Amino acid sequence: MALGSPVGEEGPVATTLPPVRYPLSVLLLLLACFHAGAPIAGCVPDGAVASASAAPGARTTGAVVAAVAVPAPPTDPVVDRLLAAARADRAAWDRLAALCDGFGARPTGSKALANAIAWSADQLRADKLANVRLEPVSVPVWSRGAESLVMTAPYTESLALLGLGGSVGTAGVEASVVVVPSFEALDALGPKVAGKIVLFNRPMDEGVPSINHYGPAVAYRSQGAARAGKYGAVAALVRSVTTRSLNSPHTGAMRYAAGVAPIPTAAVATEDADRIARMTAAGTDVRLRLTMGATAQPDAPSHNVVADLPGETDELVLIGAHIDSWDVGTGAHDDGAGVIHVIEAMRHLRALGITPKRTIRAVLFTNEEYGLRGGTTYDATHGAEPHVAAIESDLGGGAPLGWTATGTPADTAWLTTALAPTGLGVLGEGGGADIGPLGARGVLLIGLAPDDTRYFDIHHTEADTVDKVDPAALAEGVGQLAALAWRLANEPRVGVERASQ
Ligand SMILES: [Zn+2]
Repeated sequence: MALGSPVGEEGPVATTLPPVRYPLSVLLLLLACFHAGAPIAGCVPDGAVASASAAPGARTTGAVVAAVAVPAPPTDPVVDRLLAAARADRAAWDRLAALCDGFGARPTGSKALANAIAWSADQLRADKLANVRLEPVSVPVWSRGAESLVMTAPYTESLALLGLGGSVGTAGVEASVVVVPSFEALDALGPKVAGKIVLFNRPMDEGVPSINHYGPAVAYRSQGAARAGKYGAVAALVRSVTTRSLNSPHTGAMRYAAGVAPIPTAAVATEDADRIARMTAAGTDVRLRLTMGATAQPDAPSHNVVADLPGETDELVLIGAHIDSWDVGTGAHDDGAGVIHVIEAMRHLRALGITPKRTIRAVLFTNEEYGLRGGTTYDATHGAEPHVAAIESDLGGGAPLGWTATGTPADTAWLTTALAPTGLGVLGEGGGADIGPLGARGVLLIGLAPDDTRYFDIHHTEADTVDKVDPAALAEGVGQLAALAWRLANEPRVGVERASQ
């Protein structure tokens, strides 16, 4: 998940992924953890509970049913087939490894991304999906170039950094550092930061789900340069948005403000943010020299990948993920896992050999991380088609705990009914950045909510590699995505207004 673009860092977050409330979270987590005997790593912190599992095929354990006094949920043999097929082997992880190892990082505008897009289409064709095509998208391009951050006083040391996507470059700027914990603290200093490098040192809060704590911290990444530049700062640094670090900076999108001269901006590791904060608090003049070769380039051609499993009607259930990544790591959790969720779900659905009532459409969006053009272009091209639901997987390949959703009460009730045989439920409000524009048309938005306990440890870093993805958790996400797509493609929408036209 990028939740990031020059135009929408807080846009998509605020409008499509507001803080997840997870009503009845304890109960739902318990039910999810015990669902169908599938071990869900990290679902609960208690080792004794985590090691428990229900009998194969069971919906819940007797203990849980007795405790909450709920009747056995309805069953759907197709759902059972899809879940069993996904759990049967490591095909999903092997495909994710092929994507990540085969192409590496997939930043917008890169040859690697173009090759990965072509590969993804080939996978869908090999799996005999219909209407597999590449649809043109014009995308903005930003290149990192060479970059460095050196402490020049009180001693000389090279520091880890990652420039932020969209930042201007600098041949080298050196200045004393002013550390602020908040925008309010910056405003209190005001013009006193002129000529300085401002370091925003606002930690990401601990807690699960981690996504709840991403937005408040990432505001400093996306807005820091504009806020500091307004007061005449010469550069802005931001503490990486994570709660755990091994001296690993995290990149991501930022944006400038109209009327404020752009200043270079980069992320530093939490260890260095804390160290510099301690030093300056003790009265030490810490000086840094920042050099960045970042450049913005003209828009370039890219593509969304679209494929269909045709149904009996033209109504559409969309399942999507984004195929681009940042230029560090190999985008395994973000969002290679989502891409594989979608490709593999389509494979299992096609293998059923049953025509669904509604058409199930896979979309692999380009340019989510740096522009959201894949999502906006899909909407411009296809938004008027009769989508009844759009599902996005963009929170990594952790074990699925449930879904988030945004829609009318009637649509949400329809979703709840459709989910009943899957063992998962709706945990709160949400959706996805790429499908956000469809939501503005009234389409029901649904987001996969996996266990994200460790997701932000490696998000947008060099460490987002396939070894961080658990094969069983990834496979479970495939099965659940396929199951939900199947249910939504077949469940009657009695009393539900047809979505966008
Ligand atoms: Zn993403």
